[in-house]
Amino acid sequence: MSAPFLRRHDCRLCGSTDLKEILSFGETPLANAYRSPDDTSPEVFAPLVVNFCNSCKLVQLRDVVDPEVLFKNYLYVSGTSPSFVAHFRDYAKTVAERFALGKDSLVVDVGSNDGVLLSHFKELGMRILGIDPAENIAEEATKQGIPTIAKFFTPQTAGEIATEHGKAHIITANNVFAHTDDVAGFVEAVKVLLRNDGVFIFEVQYLKDLVEKNLFDIVYHEHLCYYHITPLVPLFERLGLRIFDVERVPTHGGSIRVFVGWAKGPHAIVPRLGELLSQETALNDSAPYEAFAKRVAENRTKLLAMLTNIKKEGRRIVGYGAPAKATTFCYALGIDASTLDYIVDDAPMKQGLLMPGTHIPIKAPSVLYEDKPDYCLILAWNFAEPIMKNHVRFIDGGGKFITPMPEPRIV
Ligand SMILES: [Zn+2]
Repeated sequence: MSAPFLRRHDCRLCGSTDLKEILSFGETPLANAYRSPDDTSPEVFAPLVVNFCNSCKLVQLRDVVDPEVLFKNYLYVSGTSPSFVAHFRDYAKTVAERFALGKDSLVVDVGSNDGVLLSHFKELGMRILGIDPAENIAEEATKQGIPTIAKFFTPQTAGEIATEHGKAHIITANNVFAHTDDVAGFVEAVKVLLRNDGVFIFEVQYLKDLVEKNLFDIVYHEHLCYYHITPLVPLFERLGLRIFDVERVPTHGGSIRVFVGWAKGPHAIVPRLGELLSQETALNDSAPYEAFAKRVAENRTKLLAMLTNIKKEGRRIVGYGAPAKATTFCYALGIDASTLDYIVDDAPMKQGLLMPGTHIPIKAPSVLYEDKPDYCLILAWNFAEPIMKNHVRFIDGGGKFITPMPEPRIV
């Protein structure tokens, strides 16, 4: 069954119709639509096609799945990953120091999920507020002491917040800015809520890392844009704001943390912005994306051959980690339960469910030690190191890990 989606024929940043298709996965299941084993309802699929805008250079999905379908009942809870907790603690501390936040300062986090970032600002004494459309998660976060509004971030919501709480010193948005189809509308909402000296800080996965490390599986329906700085600078300028700094951070295989203030605000442009822009010139043409698609296809062939050989030897393979990107990964490679007996995941809420589309069962990591499979393919490759460190016992027992990125390798 096809998900309700909208096909765009223009660029969502600049409106140009000069778009070029650079990657297509055909129709794929929604990456976060984990299924209960007794669910017999028809599964929802939508086209997953990536375009490059020849005009503003934005890499973006062509089709937009209805956000109500994607985000209302979201399973991803960031606080469950220990390395994310550390990442967000440092993030809050750095921002509070750099922008001299005080006890009255209001920090609003858009797409606040379980409130992991806000909890650290709260510890530092700031006023906090979360916004997240996932009602289940917003309710739980509020119960845990992180006040969270279950809404999409629109100029109207921003206005309501400004009236009730005052304008924000800091607005953060981590891994949500790339989820929005109406980018200008999102920025308008930021403008309604941001103080004159305020800073809007967002983290998105970085296109340069995606291309250089062959991270094709971070392409899924939630991620509508794959950003580099080049198309963002004119976007904010057009809307009266200004990017004044950018940092590269290691999250999700490589991300950028972008700092935005008012065009006439107090924050001066930091030199590394220009340096980063000059390193992006290779991404401003469609040719490198053709080479990227070719590398992705080669790695796919290589990994499939590796898995097929292992199966031929009569050995068993399982997966580690069932993040959303594992849906694209398994689906693009045609990997199902005949290849991976099951996938283990640390998040209890995913255990017992089935992967979208491929229906590979998800189990608890302890099963590795009861069942003793021969190989474990790490699908949550951004956590490969901690996973292997936590499961030295699996290796000591004769098990082997396979890491798929930047190219498949048996460790
Ligand atoms: Zn464009």
